[in-house]
Amino acid sequence: MKTNRFSLEGKVAVVTGGNQGIGKTVACALAEEGADVVILDVQDSQATATEIADRFGVRCASFVCDVTNATQVKEIINEAAGHMGTLDLLFNNAGIDREKDALDIPADEFALVVNVNLNGIFYVAAEFARYLVAQGKGGSIVNTSSMSGHIVNIPQGDAHYNASKAGVSHLTRSLAVEWAKYGIRVNAISPGYMKTAITATAPEEWLKVWLDLIPAKRMGTPEELVGAVIYLLSEASSYTTGTDLVIDGGYTSI
Ligand code: NDP
Repeated sequence: MKTNRFSLEGKVAVVTGGNQGIGKTVACALAEEGADVVILDVQDSQATATEIADRFGVRCASFVCDVTNATQVKEIINEAAGHMGTLDLLFNNAGIDREKDALDIPADEFALVVNVNLNGIFYVAAEFARYLVAQGKGGSIVNTSSMSGHIVNIPQGDAHYNASKAGVSHLTRSLAVEWAKYGIRVNAISPGYMKTAITATAPEEWLKVWLDLIPAKRMGTPEELVGAVIYLLSEASSYTTGTDLVIDGGYTSI
């Protein structure tokens, strides 16, 4: 008999950075597992939300939200909860990169990357958890870190990105410990090189170095991350919190 351990039926999942790339692919997969979805993105994501609702027969709403704006995050989490009736799950994924050597990156660009990738992850997670605690219910959060939070990639200079993602990985463990008493699980995924807009402009010489170093000898696709996110958001991982699943074709094993 088929089990429903991984089912997300009856849950409402928030996905940040869900208009494209990893966020959109995961949003589709969560809908396929039965979740209603809320997309938060700095871009207008109405077309993506309509596509998800039509393809998977779920409710899907979108809100323009800059995760670096803590006031806006608070308003929109509460508005989304009112609109959907409840919120249960969060894929906290919005992030950016500005590949520049540490000697060249201006202070404002360093601050921007840390602000989106680390502060933004915190603002959304904290507001989502505040909502859950106020409702007296548990929930599950998956943050998008990166293998760059575990190791230093070459040949590109990316100290600001690497540091921001190391912050996400340790923030994940810290929040998991603090919020276990509320029944809120907090985990992370750490993807390796994925084929999305972030990596699309990488010069040929970087790609050559990357492929040489990846044991799998290819980049990953967002589709190859969805199983991990579904697992970590579903009841199948009910005793799992504070973990960080590295999904990198073997890159960090060498
Ligand atoms: P994409 O650029 O394709 O998607 C990211 C989405 O987040 C975009 O829609 C982007 O909008 C949005 N976004 C950017 N800034 C904000 C903000 N301040 N508030 C709300 N939304 C925002 O990237 P990926 O799908 O590749 O990346 C998703 C996550 O995965 C990121 O955290 C990234 O660091 C991480 N990651 C990616 C890897 C890869 O190889 N692709 C590897 C490891 C981790 P806009 O287009 O306007 O910027």
